[in-house]
Amino acid sequence: MRSHLLNETTADLYRRSVTEGVDRVAAKLATTQRPHTGISVDELAPVINGIDLDKPLADASAVLDELEDVYLRDAVYFHHPRYLGHLNCPVVIPAVLGEAILSAVNSSLDTWDQSIGGTLIERRLIDWTTERIGLGPGADGIFTSGGSQSNFHALLLARDEACRLVMKKALDEGRELTKAELLPKLRIFTSEASHFSVQKSAAMLGLGYEAVISVPVDRNRRMDTAVLALELEECAAEGLFPMAVVATAGTTDFGSIDPLPEIARLADEHSAWMHVDAAYGCGLLASPTRRHLLDGIERADSVTVDYHKSFFQPVSSSAMLVRDRDTLKHATYHADYLNPRRMAEERIPNQVDKSIQTTRRFDALKLWVTLRVMGADGVGSLFDEVIDLAAAGWDIIDADPRFEVVVKPQISTLVFRYVPEGDGIRGDLVDEANLHARKALFASGEAVVAGTKVDGKQYLKFTLLNPQTTTADITAVLDLLAAHAEQFLGESLALHR
Ligand SMILES: *Cc1c(COP(=O)(O)O)cnc(C)c1O
Repeated sequence: MRSHLLNETTADLYRRSVTEGVDRVAAKLATTQRPHTGISVDELAPVINGIDLDKPLADASAVLDELEDVYLRDAVYFHHPRYLGHLNCPVVIPAVLGEAILSAVNSSLDTWDQSIGGTLIERRLIDWTTERIGLGPGADGIFTSGGSQSNFHALLLARDEACRLVMKKALDEGRELTKAELLPKLRIFTSEASHFSVQKSAAMLGLGYEAVISVPVDRNRRMDTAVLALELEECAAEGLFPMAVVATAGTTDFGSIDPLPEIARLADEHSAWMHVDAAYGCGLLASPTRRHLLDGIERADSVTVDYHKSFFQPVSSSAMLVRDRDTLKHATYHADYLNPRRMAEERIPNQVDKSIQTTRRFDALKLWVTLRVMGADGVGSLFDEVIDLAAAGWDIIDADPRFEVVVKPQISTLVFRYVPEGDGIRGDLVDEANLHARKALFASGEAVVAGTKVDGKQYLKFTLLNPQTTTADITAVLDLLAAHAEQFLGESLALHR
């Protein structure tokens, strides 16, 4: 069994084994006709459950053969131009190369003595990102597993900063206020189109969902800052404390970017932490032409970026950045066995001091290899291409009488719905037709689209992250959706006649 360990004696097996895996995937990618096969849970589950995990196969080749049946054949392939579902990007080859290297070397980024160069590479990329954002010389940050973790981490810092400041102020005024008394009085402001991880974070931070004040959005699905201003006033009037304002730069559904400068002004006026969730919009940081869409982000106290959404990186690759590196201390804990205080004094860079994880992947390497091969402009121009595609897609849907589209995209999503000709078809039936169209399309495997609700109605969504997708793909998928919806309505109406 020792022959399976990756070490100085097994380089050949390593090379053969990984190469064979790479060959299989390459062959798969070259022949994939559809984003997926349309297999159902009921068909696939027995195949996977039927495998005896206590009886290994002869060798890796046999396992790859089996993997064909349990995974590779039916997987959802994000590189396919008709995958228009969620925020999954096709990945760039330099990043996949980085991934292969990082898992083989297997550095762990918690402490310097487990990563060395990895620590410094991660730090350079954090600095690169904070410079692109414009967070200033005191900035810092950390790679995380994803946007949800980044949002949680940022709000943890925001909570503890709010507690520190409010409690200090009370003390200065001769009152004592305990953390236990304060926590139920903290409020987080975010738009109704923001990501649900804000609510989840509030729950995990001991504040509860009730702590999140949902601010309405305007026609373009951007936070209504007039209402935010009123809500902040009301918060103060009620003796509550605005812990944070969470702006979204690229909402998950609409790609809308909240008015960042105005939000920064209001957060500042009310001494609230400003967090910008740029999990999706962060690709604009590298865009040669559209960086200005993020103007105002440089005023944030913290920022979430998901390189695995708009930098064409494999899952996972994300970061949380802060304006003031001192605030990271709220997540610092010195363990004698790992990162004793002494090490911080000796200036040994232990990234665990800044992270809420301990053992942590060297995900930064993927972005490093990407930037070294393609350059920032190269990555950013890919993102520009999908933004252009979304604009063209809007024109197509807007001109198509079978569909209505919600907003002109700022980034690369299109939210729309099928609307039957003529009146008199019940609203709930139209909702069902849209739901059905999405499901039927998914089951066919011909294309994948997402769905969402807008103002209580069922909508469909294209998330465009693949520069290979064309307007012809968009038109073809619209035709498929309309056909499924029409068939559903035809059958439903016949049934009720
Ligand atoms: C995707 C997304 C998140 C969550 O990121 P994960 O990487 O999926 O955890 C947070 N905020 C926004 C706006 C997102 O689009």
